[in-house]
Amino acid sequence: MNQTFPEAGRPARARVAVENLGCKVNRYEADAIAQRFRQAGYSLVEYSEKADIYILNTCGVTNEAARKSRQQLHKAKRHNPEALVVAIGCQAELKPDELPADLCIGNVGKENLLETIEAFLLSGTAPDRVEIAGIRDFAEFGSVTEQRETRAYLKVQDGCNNFCSYCAIPLARGRVRSREEEQVLAEAFQLAEQGYKEVVLTGIHVCSYGEDRGESSTALVDLIAKIAAVEGLERIRLSSLEPQSISAEFVDRAAHIPKLCPHFHLSLQSGSDVILKAMNRRYDTAVYRDAVRRLREAFPIVGITTDVIVGFPGETETEFAETLTFCEEMAFSRLHVFRYSERPGTKAVRLPAKVTAQVAKDRSERLLALGDQLQSRALAEAEGRVAEVLLENRDNAGHWQGYTPDYLLAELTDALTVQDQLEEGQIVTLRLMDHVAGRIRTEINAVL
Ligand code: SF4
Repeated sequence: MNQTFPEAGRPARARVAVENLGCKVNRYEADAIAQRFRQAGYSLVEYSEKADIYILNTCGVTNEAARKSRQQLHKAKRHNPEALVVAIGCQAELKPDELPADLCIGNVGKENLLETIEAFLLSGTAPDRVEIAGIRDFAEFGSVTEQRETRAYLKVQDGCNNFCSYCAIPLARGRVRSREEEQVLAEAFQLAEQGYKEVVLTGIHVCSYGEDRGESSTALVDLIAKIAAVEGLERIRLSSLEPQSISAEFVDRAAHIPKLCPHFHLSLQSGSDVILKAMNRRYDTAVYRDAVRRLREAFPIVGITTDVIVGFPGETETEFAETLTFCEEMAFSRLHVFRYSERPGTKAVRLPAKVTAQVAKDRSERLLALGDQLQSRALAEAEGRVAEVLLENRDNAGHWQGYTPDYLLAELTDALTVQDQLEEGQIVTLRLMDHVAGRIRTEINAVL
């Protein structure tokens, strides 16, 4: 296919819209791609505007995510029927034939997307697809210093070797590949130079960092310690970890890195050992309980958040009740609830005793209600404390919002004349007062 840009002239002046669905890794990669196009002289426009090239970083984690991916691609064609619509990412890797795109790249070769698109525009030939399962090297995007979020994402790893029975991500992302430490640190330095104060270490399975190179189980905490030495960065946050990676050694080392935020997102998925086994998770509730105990003993203030799937095949009311009890015992400060979504190519598709949509909906609502209660409890316990908050955005009333190190959402209530003097990305010391609607109301104590 030979695509031209009648309105914009040469491709180098074309308008490019990059949109993202899904996780933090996808967000990082979308920002990396947008940065490359901008640096090459293309104009970046919003996805809702008319563009010559639309790039959608798709997600395939649930059926709903897959549906949204298709919907967003249709939307691009509606904005400009003449545009080149490019699908990349997980759903483009899993089901390229089902996506309404002119070019589907998947997850292999995303880092060279600019060159691939330019070659495609000249020749009309799409590159040959390469099986992601055979990829062993980390795809290096370079340093991504133009990010949309106040907290910069820093990708350290890709892929997952776990093959949980419900999850299609290993099929879309391939085997574990760790980024070279040198590249991680180079990016951390550049982010600090750009003024970012907090970095979030992201990956598909961050706790596998170094595993593909045969490194020791302390590779991740070694890396965190080195990032912590980067001047200018004040906070390091970790994205989702697995409970079995929270060893005594990890916790002991982590607790001695002052810049590491005491916030750990430990995926639970179920509070029933029977269901965890059917999910092919690599831990049981005893391992999970130990991980949480270690963290609470080592960090005087710590936020523990989690993900839970309800309605997994075989989950009876008894097993769901175990999940409710376990979540209450773990005292999570935030609970993300997902209804089981059958993903083609995964083992769980063949499991019997499917749970009806109505039952899954009911369980989801009950667990969400518990999540709200637990969050309120965590917010109430924080009242009266003083905490540092990274200012991220202002709400409709002009109040700054941001997160405490242990990941409580804080809202500043000082007079707007005071708030007008503050800036996005600034860290302020706030007194935590009371809470309302999932936020802790705060007033300023000091500005760092
Ligand atoms: S650990 Fe399990 S749920 Fe997480 S990405 Fe890997 S296979 Fe999916």
